[in-house]
Amino acid sequence: MKREFVCIVCPRGCQLTIDDDLNVTGNTCMRGKDYAISEVTHPTRIITSSIKVSNREDTLVSVKTDKPVPKEKIFEVMEIINRASVKAPTVIGDIALHDVLGLGVNVVITKEIK
Ligand code: SF4
Repeated sequence: MKREFVCIVCPRGCQLTIDDDLNVTGNTCMRGKDYAISEVTHPTRIITSSIKVSNREDTLVSVKTDKPVPKEKIFEVMEIINRASVKAPTVIGDIALHDVLGLGVNVVITKEIK
């Protein structure tokens, strides 16, 4: 059986096809081949979300994981992000949550709040 999906590694968005033997077509570069193989063998995603700012009323700050999270752990990581809060001021790149679920993944701030 063949699977088709769009490569999300870069904005070019190549249409990839992969078969049961992990032969990949449609990729313009090797990153697309690696992505297709990992997508069917061990799918992961970067999570983007937002975290409450505890010392600013009705304020959220945007965050993202600094590494891809295994798809089966995304829900648990989102629950932790939803319960968390940070204090302003925030600086882009600051770590809001360290080593979430022991996955070696940090949640980092992506917006400055003065
Ligand atoms: S296959 Fe390569 S060029 Fe095509 S979208 Fe993926 S990373 Fe970009």
